Amino acid sequence: MKRPKLKKASKRVSCSKRYKIQKKVKDHNRKLKKEAKKTGVSKRVKKDLGVPSSAPFKEEVLREAEHRRLQIEGDKEKKKKTKIEERAKKRKKEAAASKDNEQKAKKTRQAVEEKRPEKAPGPDKTSQHYLCSELNKVIEASDVVIEVLDARDPLGCRCPQLEEAVQRDGNKKLLLVLSKIDLVPKENLERWMQCLQREFPVMAFKASTQIVDKTVRARKRRIVASNEVLDRSRTAACFGNDCLTELLVRLAASQPSDASLKVGVVGFPNVGKSSLINSMKGILACNAGIKRGITKSMQEVHILKNVKLIDSPGVVAAPSNPSASMALRSLQVDEGQGSVLEAVRMLLKQCDHSQIMLQYNVPDFRNSLEFVTLFAKKRGYLQKGGVPNMEHAAACFLADWTGSTVSYHCKPPESHGLPAGAPAHSGWDLDLLNTGNEKTLKGVKFPSQASSIGFISKGPTAGLLSVASEEKPAAEQKNEPLQSAEEANETKEPDEPQPLKTPALHVQFQSVPTDGADDAYDFNTDFK
Ligand code: GDP
Repeated sequence: MKRPKLKKASKRVSCSKRYKIQKKVKDHNRKLKKEAKKTGVSKRVKKDLGVPSSAPFKEEVLREAEHRRLQIEGDKEKKKKTKIEERAKKRKKEAAASKDNEQKAKKTRQAVEEKRPEKAPGPDKTSQHYLCSELNKVIEASDVVIEVLDARDPLGCRCPQLEEAVQRDGNKKLLLVLSKIDLVPKENLERWMQCLQREFPVMAFKASTQIVDKTVRARKRRIVASNEVLDRSRTAACFGNDCLTELLVRLAASQPSDASLKVGVVGFPNVGKSSLINSMKGILACNAGIKRGITKSMQEVHILKNVKLIDSPGVVAAPSNPSASMALRSLQVDEGQGSVLEAVRMLLKQCDHSQIMLQYNVPDFRNSLEFVTLFAKKRGYLQKGGVPNMEHAAACFLADWTGSTVSYHCKPPESHGLPAGAPAHSGWDLDLLNTGNEKTLKGVKFPSQASSIGFISKGPTAGLLSVASEEKPAAEQKNEPLQSAEEANETKEPDEPQPLKTPALHVQFQSVPTDGADDAYDFNTDFK
């Protein structure tokens, strides 16, 4: 029995067991003795009686015996010495041989390396060129492309270059998915859906942001261990995945070949591409998080036997975009190429002053620096001596806006003409899509209009599909020498219509101001 806190187990056994063992040992010894008697082999070694003292020449005999003993010992010593010498010689030989071998191996290695052509360095996964090529690969490989749009600024997340590239190949289908719908007021979302549906099929989606299990087995094990049935919390809930899965299954079934349907998931950084894939799969298949640019290369995820989703790195925003768009959609700030304080200044310019004060619970402020100071103090982002950590505070503010903390919304265009081209709805089961959207809208808990910040969108964001053709598409669309879009927008009033950037084929959107309050607020005087 193992005794607690003692290293060794006790040797105590029951008496009956002990006696049994003793008896068995006795029997065994008896048997051995009997057998020895039979064969005449005695265990006892006969004692050397020595030379009897009565023997004649006793001394001579003893001397002779001693001499023999010394001789035998001498022989043994000699043998031992020769053995040691031989072993030493052998070791020396082996050492020399291994040295030779090492030198030979070194020489051959050097020769091989000299012969081998210069090893090409691996691709720089952070370079724009690499990100563009990965995105192109995803578009090329996909039968269906899902453009993920942050529901807080759907127009700002649309990339005309990307949509054009998808539509260029007539066989690819495009679906717009509005993600993060739990961060916008319901009426706003409905209006955006109506607006976007004129061009492409639109799906409302709320991803689960609490998926931690990397394998199905780990997930099952956790559920069994915690005996939890389902986490119904707001962040864990997912809406729209059933409908989207069903839509994709139907598309896969209608395919002529047996090959699985490849669905590319594309969009600007942090719009929720990876979260969508994880929610569809039910496990953490792709890395997702507040940090932008986590996904560096394409990644295939089988969600069903015949449906494969492909995660892609975020679209690279063209530098010609307005600064506010760059702050939200590009990786410039994250890569240290832009000032985070400047990004915050640009964002504040697009918002309603009083709503910012209410949302962040800060007093009136005159400019962005003052706001960041107040925000840092409010959140306790302080350095030694109580000095506000401006950089950190600004980075946190920006992360709120690109991640999933702040509720803000953009007003969709009130009215615009019918689309120039036919809506690209063919092949989709629109009834299923509509019922799925209705179900999602009923299930999600939306913020109220009053608790959401009004934001003035800067319009579609130009993206780069190849680094060489950086500014081309925007210039082409405008039909004029390329001018910084920021400059163009800066000179206009916030509620003035924005330049049209979407491809001529479809509805052309205008940036529209937030409701009412922005008229009374002069951004130009306050944020300079
Ligand atoms: P990606 O860069 O486009 O792949 O974006 P991620 O999937 O990494 O998501 C960026 C951030 O948005 C993460 O912090 C997610 O938790 C969050 N997010 C994604 N989808 C939703 C959603 O539907 N609702 C909310 N509230 N947050 C979301």
